Amino acid sequence: MSNVRVRFAPSPTGPLHIGGVRTALYNYLFAKKNGGKFILRIEDTDQKRYVAEAEEYIIKSLEWFGFSPEEGPGLGGDFGPYRQSERKDIYGQYVTELIEKGHAYYCFDTSEELTNWRLENEAQKIYGVKYNHATRMNMRNSISLSKEESEKLIKEGNNVTVRLKIPTGRTIDFTDVVRGDVSFNSDELDDKIILKGDGMPTYHLANIVDDHLMEITHVIRGEEWLPSTGHHVLMYEMFGWTAPSFSHLPLILKPVGSGKLSKRDGAKFGFPVFPLEWFDKEEDKTYQGFKEDGYLPEAVTNFISLLGWNPGTDEEMFTLEELVAAFDPTRIVKSGAKFDVDKARWFNQQYIIAKPNTELADLLMPMAKEKGYDVSEDFMIKFADLMKERAEVIPDFFTAGGFFFEMPVDIDEKMAKKKYKLENRPHFDALIASMEGMQQFTSSALESVVKSYIADNELSFGAIMPILRIGACGTMKGPDLFETMELLGQDEVLSRMKASIEKFTALKNAQNG
Ligand code: GLU
Repeated sequence: MSNVRVRFAPSPTGPLHIGGVRTALYNYLFAKKNGGKFILRIEDTDQKRYVAEAEEYIIKSLEWFGFSPEEGPGLGGDFGPYRQSERKDIYGQYVTELIEKGHAYYCFDTSEELTNWRLENEAQKIYGVKYNHATRMNMRNSISLSKEESEKLIKEGNNVTVRLKIPTGRTIDFTDVVRGDVSFNSDELDDKIILKGDGMPTYHLANIVDDHLMEITHVIRGEEWLPSTGHHVLMYEMFGWTAPSFSHLPLILKPVGSGKLSKRDGAKFGFPVFPLEWFDKEEDKTYQGFKEDGYLPEAVTNFISLLGWNPGTDEEMFTLEELVAAFDPTRIVKSGAKFDVDKARWFNQQYIIAKPNTELADLLMPMAKEKGYDVSEDFMIKFADLMKERAEVIPDFFTAGGFFFEMPVDIDEKMAKKKYKLENRPHFDALIASMEGMQQFTSSALESVVKSYIADNELSFGAIMPILRIGACGTMKGPDLFETMELLGQDEVLSRMKASIEKFTALKNAQNG
């Protein structure tokens, strides 16, 4: 077992977005590739944005994909607790350590004072003013105030916060695995709050302390955290700890245009951005997930693995095990990756085609029951086999193959009128009679009955086949007609054909009439 330890550290503020799934996946792949450990840490220090259902949702989603962490809340591990809210007592000593070392200081500014300060600056056209080396002496904190006054205010404890004291004139360098050399000028960094007025650490402090205590060796996370990494590297230095390796993943972009993929894009372009169904309380709205929309977890995994990473070859199809073997973080790209819906559907289709029919039948059976279709397991397996090439997502089986379960009410009348000739009625009656007399209603027997009838009577395929198809299925679209008829069964085909021929005759008569 190597000492590689990586973590996925979501904040439970809502459902897991597809970008978060990719972060989790890359962490998992890196851990597995290196014989290391993949850890889940719940970063719930922001009580205002906390959503109770989110943690369970995250765990269930990762389970659905099949890349669950080995350590985490409810999973055990030697480095727990794995929820930051349960680690509150741990952080205090590290805040004290930074204060004692002169790397952090107490602040007494109320939020009202801070807002006014910002507004006054804006009135003078100074936007985005920073609490830092240039301004901290004008504020109320333990650096600007006298020792006595500071001590009094600390004792009173009214909303006292602690900020990092960023040193001046420093260049902070680190090498990001994805972006190469990154450097920050410390004069441009703000004195970030590390302990909030409610006694909770901020993300920055808790994240560093926990990564250190949990012995995280590699941090692989979204690029939105890159601007904070200067602060993080400095904090490692202030504590005298070794910083982990950093890889910042590119954004997942909208299918068209620019910008980060949002849940609204999902609704707009007709695809899910969450793994599983999510009920949004604020919006009073349920979002369907990839699962409910009929995507297979292994297909989504394969698809998202390539959003921001490539194997360096043209190879596109990867199982999770193959991804583990191929994954190389130095091949993660810097530029954002567009979410291509057609590609997602294409991957899903490949996985549907490759999936054993029995497994597909297991997925389809409950859906069929829900629709009120009462069919056998054997029927479902054959149905899956016939329709799998035509389904990009699981519900396509029923939209494109609904005629296997019941004759559609809205049959393709236009095509029927075009192809059906009244003078051919005797031929269809004869064909129906032949089918009625068949001992074995198999596709090969059907094929020979129909084809020899066409040949013997010197008819054209175009005069007969489309009518048999619409007559039996209601539509021109579908898999091999004879195999379809075999699965529908003799009784069903005969009753549909008889009714259809009557209907087509009536349609034609009305047309001519
Ligand atoms: N809690 C942060 C998030 O929600 C984690 C960032 C990190 O991985 O350091 O994205």
